[in-house]
Amino acid sequence: MSSPGPSPLIANDRHLSVDEARAAVLAPLQPVAETETVALRDALGRVLADDLISPMHVPPHDNSAMDGFAFDGAALQPGQPLVLRIVGTAFAGAALGHAVAPGTAARIMTGAVMPRGADTVVPQELVQVQQDVLTVPPGVVSAGENRRLAGEDLRQGLPALTAGRVLRPSDLGLAASLGFTTLTVRRRLRVALISTGDELRNPGEPLPEGCIYDSNRASLAGALQRLGVEVLDMGLVKDEPAALEAAFTEAARSADAVLTSGGVSVGEADYTRDMLARLGEVAFWKVAMRPGRPFAFGPLQALGGSRSWLFALPGNPVAALVTFYAFVREALLKLSGAVAAPPQALQARSAVAIRKRPGRTEFQRAIVERGSDGHWTARTTGAQGAGILSSLSQANALLVLPHEQGSVAAGELVEVWLFDGLA
Ligand code: AMP
Ligand code: MG
Repeated sequence: MSSPGPSPLIANDRHLSVDEARAAVLAPLQPVAETETVALRDALGRVLADDLISPMHVPPHDNSAMDGFAFDGAALQPGQPLVLRIVGTAFAGAALGHAVAPGTAARIMTGAVMPRGADTVVPQELVQVQQDVLTVPPGVVSAGENRRLAGEDLRQGLPALTAGRVLRPSDLGLAASLGFTTLTVRRRLRVALISTGDELRNPGEPLPEGCIYDSNRASLAGALQRLGVEVLDMGLVKDEPAALEAAFTEAARSADAVLTSGGVSVGEADYTRDMLARLGEVAFWKVAMRPGRPFAFGPLQALGGSRSWLFALPGNPVAALVTFYAFVREALLKLSGAVAAPPQALQARSAVAIRKRPGRTEFQRAIVERGSDGHWTARTTGAQGAGILSSLSQANALLVLPHEQGSVAAGELVEVWLFDGLA
């Protein structure tokens, strides 16, 4: 595994674009190797370790898609009614038990196995029945219709789900339909979370003058929980080299990744830089983005030789979360073994004109909603300062203006990342 090292980009002290930063972060990461077997009920949101191969066809048999009558479609004649004798009933879970002979039909329920000799189902509302005589009027059904074929959902021997999938409710249903009671998933990623800053206090504690409550650990812990990783809360650390070194060493020893906020901006970075130079090969980047900018990334070597990845976010609460969404989220998914999962980007019309100069990526807090014309529109949520968390809380999306983009006119299409989909 190679470390990102001091790339020429960084040596030049040029600002990295968000895409460059994203690529440089993703490149050296290798997913955790260990797996565990969990009950289907506990597998939601976990990362499937191996392809899940179907041990059987689903459905296992040809079966009826309708309540109606099953018969041999070859007997249908264009323009003529078909008259058949009804010989029994096939129920879901209770097959007919004998073949449907020429000249006969079986009453059949949705999901019942197609009887031998029958390949067609006519829905009951399209036919006439008198005692045991069925009349299929001309033109109401074609041969082979209303029959679900064995294996049309899942085919035996083929992957039903592929490795790296983050399991969704429908995936659990799919695994259940194949008879699985457990799934093999990657072990959960362990992420240590640290806030740095002398001015920070824990909620619940008294707040001396000049101090503020630590909000980043709360919001980042939430973002991490959504990713399904195990969060190790390492608390607050003062801006003191010895305290920081002890905390980073401890975090690197116990976690696959260490997520910190604060302390990487100019002025604070120097002693953090020296300390991190001893602990690993961490690169300090200026990323051409707003909010955001300072970011540090690289491998930390804990005592004892294990390796952990440091992601050091800017301290400003909005910058911390935006940087997390811009590239840390995807990096942690990669470490978790998940297939590439960039944020889901949609297009919406900007309700307002937005001033921007090319050369950096800008993330604006926005409310995306459906206009009366049925189109999605995005309007920004007021003050966009990097420390103003309320406007992020009011937003339901980030409006993303890419690196090369200039100003946007009202009504122009813009990219948006929605915070929530179907939960
Ligand atoms: P820093 O990156 O440490 O220079 O911090 C930038 C700004 O973010 C400062 O105003 C800090 O007080 C603030 N800040 C840093 N960490 C946190 C945190 N965990 N919660 C709330 N604000 C923070
Ligand atoms: Mg600070």
